[in-house]
Amino acid sequence: MKIQNLVRRAAKVFLASAILTGPVARGANVDYFADNGFGKPLSTLQHPSGEHFKTTTYIAYQGPHEDAYVAAYNHSTKKWSGPVLAGVSPMGKTPDPVDNNEVDNHGKPAMMVDNKGYIHLVFGSHGGNPNLGKNKFGTPAGFGHGGKQTHIVSKNPEDITSWRVVDNISPFGTYPQFVQMDDGDIYLFYRHGSHQSDWVYQKSSDDGLTFSSPVSVIKHKLQAEGKLHDAWYAWFAKGKGDTITASYIYHPCSYPNHTKDRLNVYYMKMNCADDSWENAVGEKLAISVTKEYADQKTLVLNSGKGRCNHGTCRVDQEGHPHLLFRYEAGQVRYTRWTGNAWTEPVAVISDGSENGQDGDMIVESPTSVRMILTRTIDGKNEVACWKTEDGGKTWAKEPSIFSRPGGGFDIGALIENHTAEAMVVVSEGRVPEHLYRKMVLLGKDGPLQRPEAETSYIQKQLEILKKSGVKPTPKEERKAKKAKTGDDE
Ligand code: ZN
Repeated sequence: MKIQNLVRRAAKVFLASAILTGPVARGANVDYFADNGFGKPLSTLQHPSGEHFKTTTYIAYQGPHEDAYVAAYNHSTKKWSGPVLAGVSPMGKTPDPVDNNEVDNHGKPAMMVDNKGYIHLVFGSHGGNPNLGKNKFGTPAGFGHGGKQTHIVSKNPEDITSWRVVDNISPFGTYPQFVQMDDGDIYLFYRHGSHQSDWVYQKSSDDGLTFSSPVSVIKHKLQAEGKLHDAWYAWFAKGKGDTITASYIYHPCSYPNHTKDRLNVYYMKMNCADDSWENAVGEKLAISVTKEYADQKTLVLNSGKGRCNHGTCRVDQEGHPHLLFRYEAGQVRYTRWTGNAWTEPVAVISDGSENGQDGDMIVESPTSVRMILTRTIDGKNEVACWKTEDGGKTWAKEPSIFSRPGGGFDIGALIENHTAEAMVVVSEGRVPEHLYRKMVLLGKDGPLQRPEAETSYIQKQLEILKKSGVKPTPKEERKAKKAKTGDDE
């Protein structure tokens, strides 16, 4: 080769590498930490989806193939690590669908960090299937959605790079929810099967090495006339001291087929000293709670025909619960227990942006509460805080934290033990061509940014999609399909 050519080639290589490494050298930052969220990567129902431990915020979400991915942000060094593939979902498809109706979306992970720093995830199931044996807490009709509830643990403390499967929980589960107590006890709540199943917990007192057998707390039941099946969507979290709150809504499922109906709001509390339950006025409850018993003892709101969907529950210094639930098309409503009664539920956002609201709340005192909410307004999706100082009667919007044109943000519950810098994770709206989504970690002042060159994780998936020639389903077909699917994502 002539010297001239060599020089030309060297110049080309130099130029190419300068273009490739340019953003790194200049440190161009973007608002997202990874681009490989998939489908509906997170929700408030599978929670927590992140935890702050020592100096690091750990985050778990659903990535390509519905697998569980984990990323971490070290607040001292200001460095990101991951995302890494932590666990493979038995529900994943190859290639990844480009139509969200073909994604199950129930197997996204719940995460916790135990006292020794090991990171635990439960994920990978929409209630299991008959090949896994007999489900003691669900009907055969409650089967059919597949997967296997899977518990994985980081091989080393505070290290997201390697994982092992621990076969110590029921495979029949969905909507996993971890509650950690101050004494180190771990309660893993979930629905023991598909929609026509009980809500149960398994308890561990040894950092998740072993768990008790499942204990049912809310009961599914075919009604006497045999046409409706009592079912539930429930949300569990740490209350004041050694207690756990349960807020839940009723799902009158038709038998044997699923419907999308959701009604009413209920509340009760567990005393972890003896694992007994009581209602808001402190009356002891006999579990597992049936529909009739719940109506009599734990009802917060009879919504009549109005659709109610689950939200979150946080407590004040008195231990009194504050409830966020979604009404009709996804308008967030709020009520709290005053010590004697539930306050009249109030629409937190009342400016006409009625759809797609969701989020969580920080209770500062019985009368001062801040909600962090996502919503769609004026053709854009937005995350902002809404604050009340009068016990929930009126709410004022604070400046927007994050917004993007379009819709379709998903938001998780608050990061456990969160700092002001990293409160909650959201995924940006989908693009038309595929279901990969950008993941954003938000603090009170906005996204925790990352150099753009560190955020790209879907090159391989995009190549596979391109080769497979998979095209998005036409809109009308998509609508028809959507009408058939049902269980909450
Ligand atoms: Zn159902």
